[in-house]
Amino acid sequence: MTLYESPCCPLCRQPPDTPSAVSYSAAEAAQHFVLAEEYPQRHAELRDHITGLWSRNDCRMYACRQCALTYAWPFVAGDGHFYNLAYPYSAYPAQRWEFLRTLDSLRGAPLQPGPVLEIGSGFGYFLGQLAPDHVAAEQVIALEYSDAGRAQLAAKGFQAMACDVRSASLDPWCGQLAAVFLFQVLEHMDDLHALTSRLNELTRPGAAIFVAVPNHDRTAFNEAHASLCDMPPNHISQWTPQALQRLADTAGWRLDRCEREPFRWSAFMRGDLVYAHMRRAQTPGTLSNKVRSRPRSGARQVAEAAVALAAMPARIPHWLAAVGRARSLGNSLWVRYQR
Ligand SMILES: [Zn+2]
Repeated sequence: MTLYESPCCPLCRQPPDTPSAVSYSAAEAAQHFVLAEEYPQRHAELRDHITGLWSRNDCRMYACRQCALTYAWPFVAGDGHFYNLAYPYSAYPAQRWEFLRTLDSLRGAPLQPGPVLEIGSGFGYFLGQLAPDHVAAEQVIALEYSDAGRAQLAAKGFQAMACDVRSASLDPWCGQLAAVFLFQVLEHMDDLHALTSRLNELTRPGAAIFVAVPNHDRTAFNEAHASLCDMPPNHISQWTPQALQRLADTAGWRLDRCEREPFRWSAFMRGDLVYAHMRRAQTPGTLSNKVRSRPRSGARQVAEAAVALAAMPARIPHWLAAVGRARSLGNSLWVRYQR
């Protein structure tokens, strides 16, 4: 794409019919990922790198009324250097609702025989539950950029590769894949049409495609209630059930099931205390900012927990705002498509 084009929806290709309500400067984005007060040099390098990715100093968010996708413009994904600067300490949850939901779905509707592909495998926590019950380990291809992740994937017997799904390295599997898994990956990716075309090349007819993305309703709630923003260029799209249906229409897939993660108050309140603290820390001079600017240590962790907890009375009005709409605020959306 040309960065200087006027905005248009990366999914349905319509121009926006309402102006952007939210924009972020490269400095604001960099402060979201790396505090200038904690790591001044890395923050400055990240800010300049984001400016380079955007080819300008700011990024605008648009909500498409045609397909219900919210997207960043310029619609440019973070590259390897961005992730190394923004997330030097990668950690992955060992269990997620969408892993269990997918495994449960496979019990009712098993995969066709054949190789399967996961894009963004992390340490292989999902694949370790998929194989060997649903597919032999040697039939699993795992795409993962992190070296530490690939080492763990290879140790579990999977074919771990560092390439993009659009790379020719995957050509040997054209027309063969029985399933593809994209968990918390789609919202990081640009060029959605190239992605769906590539998945159609790689998969066999009848293949299953499983996708999980952050739930836009939850993201919008967080942003409206002084919690963390869904910051580009990490996440560059925000998905709704309607947009996930539109993705199926674009690709020529059938949407078999689309579900929202059940909402749990305990996890919500715990996460909200942490995220609201992290958001406050982005403002220089706040107590959260001062504590998070100190060197990482056990003592800092304790101080951060105390500061996050002390803000609980200020969070209660936001929690009350979640009452009555809690059912729409689960973390993830999960979809099973059939090609
Ligand atoms: Zn659209």
